[in-house]
Amino acid sequence: MKNFKEIDDQYVAHSYARFPVLIQSGKGVYVYDDEGKKYIDFTSGIGVNSLGYQYEAWVQAVREQAGTIAHTSNLFYNEPMLELAEKLVTRAGMKKVFFGNSGAEANEAIIKAARKYANDHYHGRRTEICTLNNSFHGRTMETLSATGQEVFHQDFFPMPTGFQYADPNLEDVKAKTNEHTAAILLEMIQGEGGVVPLDPKFVQDVADLCKENDWLLMVDEVQTGIGRCGTFFAYEQFGIQPDLVSSAKGLGGGLPIGAALIGEKCEDVFQPGDHGSTFGGNPIVCAGANVVIDTLTPAFLDEVKEKGDYLKSELSKLPHVVQVDGLGMMLGVQFDEMKGIDVVNACLKKGALFLTAKDRLRLLPPLVMTKAEIDEGLNILKDVLSHWEEA
Ligand SMILES: *Cc1c(COP(=O)(O)O)cnc(C)c1O
Repeated sequence: MKNFKEIDDQYVAHSYARFPVLIQSGKGVYVYDDEGKKYIDFTSGIGVNSLGYQYEAWVQAVREQAGTIAHTSNLFYNEPMLELAEKLVTRAGMKKVFFGNSGAEANEAIIKAARKYANDHYHGRRTEICTLNNSFHGRTMETLSATGQEVFHQDFFPMPTGFQYADPNLEDVKAKTNEHTAAILLEMIQGEGGVVPLDPKFVQDVADLCKENDWLLMVDEVQTGIGRCGTFFAYEQFGIQPDLVSSAKGLGGGLPIGAALIGEKCEDVFQPGDHGSTFGGNPIVCAGANVVIDTLTPAFLDEVKEKGDYLKSELSKLPHVVQVDGLGMMLGVQFDEMKGIDVVNACLKKGALFLTAKDRLRLLPPLVMTKAEIDEGLNILKDVLSHWEEA
């Protein structure tokens, strides 16, 4: 398709800035554009294609389910959804799950669960949810309001109310919480915020504070979860057990899914009629997600951790790199002078896809990427950075 940019310009709402590449196919950790140019992929469609492209078991499960039944609505039971529910709840040490279609929808569900818990137990006295400055929780009005970044709010007033924003330190969290607080919502690593991990001591202190006050501890694992950080959920590495967890991106392995995981406290909060989503628990999507979960064995997760550590240490050795943050295969790179977006554009020309987060370069490669493939991508990045002045 030669005129893809014109068609996009004419017919598609300009809510995204796009790279001038039409991606046509993918295989393993590579994608190919309409002219057959090959790119090694460190984006995974923003953390979605965790098993890369055309992962055999995933393709087979999705094909087979599409050829059996594509959709049932949530008025009936379906097998892939029940299978996924059992696997997810068990792996997360939670009690229940609600399925939707996106990260924002998963966050909407945990916010609704928290509000209902607070209303059931505190009769309208606890209405506030404390989130962090520099957080990101989605693009619906409610999750936008939960997002602690003014730039996302400014054009969309009036915003839904009921959120307080704290800096990631205990004093400020204490300052922004009170007798009206219902819950605290955290990302273990602020993804869109620049790949900024929280201090584990801070996370544990917040968890203690929640316990003392019967505030619900909510963790947004939309980007960090499903093996991305080297454990099934990132919170496992912070020594906490949240009351509510949202999951999405990598969970479907390429199909839209969101899951709200519900712990003991809120186990019975949702009653028939309280919440819903037409496509939630769709059998094709769940068939794909079951393959993702089955692939994430303890040995696979150890490898993610090991490959992530390798990637992190190799990135630190590159010219112009001043800091590398993140866990597992979710990493952010701070350069001395150049901006992430300029590095991304230079790498794109040379056949490697990377992401940005704020001014940083962000890496979310498929979890199946091998060390040899990591080296291949690093070589392109190294080449770009070592010849920066000449470019
Ligand atoms: C991407 C993201 C979301 C929003 O997910 P969508 O599927 O785009 O709605 C929410 N929270 C975090 C941490 C994310 O990274």
